[in-house]
Amino acid sequence: MNHDDLRDWSKRAADWAHDYHMTLRDRPVRAQVSPGETAAKLPASPPEAPESPEAIFADFERIVPDAMTHWQHPRFFAYFPANAAPASMWAEQLANAMASNCLIWQASPAATEIEQVTTDWLRQALGLPEGFTGTIHDSASTCTLSAVITMRDRATGWDSVQDGLTGQALRVYASAQTHSSVDKAVRLAGIGQRNLVKIDTDAAYRMDPAALERAIEEDRAAGRIPAGLVICTGGTGIGALDPAAECIAVAKKHDLYVHVDAAWAGSAMICPEFRALWAGVEGADSIVFNPHKWLGVQFDCSVQFLADPAPQIRSLGLRPDYLQTQGRDEIVNFNEWTVALGRRFRALKLWFVLRAYGLEDLRTRIRNHVAWTEELAEAFRATPGFEIVTEPRLALFSFRYAPEGGDANAATEALLARINDDGRVYLTQTVHEGKFVIRVTAGTFDCTRDDVMAVHEVVTELARA
Ligand SMILES: *Cc1c(COP(=O)(O)O)cnc(C)c1O
Repeated sequence: MNHDDLRDWSKRAADWAHDYHMTLRDRPVRAQVSPGETAAKLPASPPEAPESPEAIFADFERIVPDAMTHWQHPRFFAYFPANAAPASMWAEQLANAMASNCLIWQASPAATEIEQVTTDWLRQALGLPEGFTGTIHDSASTCTLSAVITMRDRATGWDSVQDGLTGQALRVYASAQTHSSVDKAVRLAGIGQRNLVKIDTDAAYRMDPAALERAIEEDRAAGRIPAGLVICTGGTGIGALDPAAECIAVAKKHDLYVHVDAAWAGSAMICPEFRALWAGVEGADSIVFNPHKWLGVQFDCSVQFLADPAPQIRSLGLRPDYLQTQGRDEIVNFNEWTVALGRRFRALKLWFVLRAYGLEDLRTRIRNHVAWTEELAEAFRATPGFEIVTEPRLALFSFRYAPEGGDANAATEALLARINDDGRVYLTQTVHEGKFVIRVTAGTFDCTRDDVMAVHEVVTELARA
């Protein structure tokens, strides 16, 4: 395949993509294949001779789409959506064509500068004060890891950068509602799972600031070193929202570094009416949110805002001889802010999406998702046999099926399997206080009210069957 073939086959791919998106509603949302089925369709050894684009494309059409779960399907209500607006896909085609590794400023100046400008646009869109600077990582997990490593090094007076941990028990605090990426970060940072202290929550699953303060004081008294706090604005299981202002006040009083995980809910803050849900966030040191979840900027695009980038650069920034940019002290080299050296040109799709839709259109979509989620929850509340287990928080709630005289956990689990085998909608589960519950997150880029209300239709029909 050469560049002339690429031109022809890119056009074929664009036409294929258009047909795919126009007919998505006809496909089952979740892949309906068994483990091993796809691998069995591939030859066991690699080809020695070139194969034609025709043969490769024919196999793609024959093997791949039916074995995919369709994340852009308007009836995808599982996990969290990973939205891809058309303008984002368009930008990715162009970034692909240039295929640059934007590791430092001079490796692709436009990538660095568009990243600086568009993350500042996002800062303004979210209502964060001036002074926060943004950078793009691949995922929220990596942003959280970067923040936890910074907490670690700051708490040891930066000794751990050179010496590693030398027996100190550093402590990081979070509620049990925070995402597992926080657990992974303390493991990877060498702090250890046992030193991640899960703070009690109140009846609404919000971190209790008084319990946080007690834990910090007990640790200090026992000779352990409180290093940092991770707050969640929109937990993954049920959407828990910690009281940011109160928790940050406690953390600052005890000189802790604060990271806010707003991976999915953060996008909603482009709507001023939702900002009360993270009131006080401007006191944090680090904030992560994923435009690749709810804003239409496709995976991967996770933005971390830093009140001061210097501490994180002190932990992560290396400048070996081969990366020196002589006489250029004014430039930013984003690889010094993040874990990986290599960087994709992710800012391009952010730029295209913000321009192609504008904030007003993006706000309308999010407001619709929140309103339709509430409407759907009301429909389940009004249906005998169904219980709302956790109330809607933005575009997330959970319910269960509790038919009279039946075991609700078993009935809900069996119903979920029927729903996803049916394929018209896709939902996933969590376990909340021992209850097996079905989570609903409404928020794919192009879903309509009918798509969201179809969840009630399909679920109640399958429950009766
Ligand atoms: C999705 C999610 C994450 C993980 O995001 P990745 O970008 O996949 O690493 C972390 N925290 C919360 C609250 C999330 O919703």
